[in-house]
Amino acid sequence: MANAIDELKPSYDVVIVGARCAGAATAMLLARAGLDVLVVEQGAYGADTLSTLALMRMGVLQLSRWGLLDAIRAMGTPRIETTTFHYGDQAVQIRIKPRDGVDGLYAPRRTLLDPLLADTARASGADIAYHVRLNDLRRNVDGRVTGVVVESGALARSIAATTVIGADGVHSTVATRVGAEPYRVGAHVGAAIYTLASHLELDGGYHWHYTNRASVGVIPTNGGETLVFAGAGRQRFMRDLRFDLAAGFHEILRDTAPSVAAAMRTASVGSYRGFAGHPGFLRPAWGPGWALVGDAGYFKDPITAHGISDALRDAELVARAVLSGTDEALADYQAVRDELSLPLFTITDEIASFDWDLPRLQALHKSLSDEMTREVLYVTDGGTEGAALGDAHGGTRPSLQPDHGRLQPAAR
Ligand SMILES: Cc1cc2nc3c(=O)[nH]c(=O)nc-3n(C[C@H](O)[C@H](O)[C@H](O)COP(=O)(O)OP(=O)(O)OC[C@H]3O[C@@H](n4cnc5c(N)ncnc54)[C@H](O)[C@@H]3O)c2cc1C
Repeated sequence: MANAIDELKPSYDVVIVGARCAGAATAMLLARAGLDVLVVEQGAYGADTLSTLALMRMGVLQLSRWGLLDAIRAMGTPRIETTTFHYGDQAVQIRIKPRDGVDGLYAPRRTLLDPLLADTARASGADIAYHVRLNDLRRNVDGRVTGVVVESGALARSIAATTVIGADGVHSTVATRVGAEPYRVGAHVGAAIYTLASHLELDGGYHWHYTNRASVGVIPTNGGETLVFAGAGRQRFMRDLRFDLAAGFHEILRDTAPSVAAAMRTASVGSYRGFAGHPGFLRPAWGPGWALVGDAGYFKDPITAHGISDALRDAELVARAVLSGTDEALADYQAVRDELSLPLFTITDEIASFDWDLPRLQALHKSLSDEMTREVLYVTDGGTEGAALGDAHGGTRPSLQPDHGRLQPAAR
């Protein structure tokens, strides 16, 4: 049962704004560690959101370490055993090696993944209130954030918190209220058209097709459905594609992935949704009394399908920093987030330009793969392998040691 606004306590250790992958995962980790946590979410429980759903190894690894992968499988989420990159006519297939509790990749519907995380947070003791919107932040005379003002319909509440975490997405109200302006902004913006197809007769793996200036992705998800997207630069989307999404989608599919176009002819295809894109950014991840996690602090073009995996990684980094209870730990959270994210951010930005030829794209994918390996190493090695990341953070780096997600609170 979710909490209604009038049932909420007057104060919590942590108030989190946003109950999707970043916010719900952070709440789960903090509640498991014994903190008193409230999550407010303006939307409905289990509501869908626009996403291509694909988890990368790091995201699956986090779900496995937190003990949630069995639930993902039990929901009927298909296991992805191969990912294939198609550069024109050349196909490069990669088999997903079972390792570290990851037996394959998964692309659960957000109507299943986000509620699973929220339910687990609630079962661990967090309060979660849907249809409750953050309106403003409370501050003390020094400007430190000390709580939230939230509202639901005609009811408003002022709630105190030691820490307020914005997990409220790209247009984060928390970031706006604390003035967390981006210090890094991407130069390029990709756009895409999405649909869900049933009975698509392909091999059940992820497929990523590229021709010059366009891409197609094929991502099997729950209920026998497959998400298919057609991507292009934002200019082309705004100029040619957005007026008739179905026609734009099939035009790209015919040119870029003829085999998928053929398979789509016998599939039942849902409605088409467009995403006109948004520039990537990195915002400051913390300040006195507040922190940001997930897209609220760090967004990159969805073309590399990494946002959910990064949100799950950073949920753990920010949870550890909050538990340590010091500003140094929060500063370190930002440093590690950036150290892990910036190379991937830069690669993603160039891919989102759609201004590459296929040899350059292959080189970018090789760099991307190296970065993903480095991230996974960080997670599996607990961040203690200085060689992988440089020694900038010494012993104070937030650790990701496998501990089944049960963090220990610092003395508070
Ligand atoms: C088109 C598209 C395709 C994508 N494809 C992929 C993919 O294949 N793989 C991948 O890993 N990532 C993908 N991503 C990225 C991924 O969806 C995001 O990185 C991820 O959803 C971020 O999660 P989050 O919890 O940080 O934020 P969000 O999912 O944006 O959730 C934020 C939540 O905060 C709530 N909220 C906002 N403001 C308030 C407020 N004032 N009060 C209360 N609640 C509030 C919102 O209602 C929302 O539920 C894609 C993104 C897009 C746009």
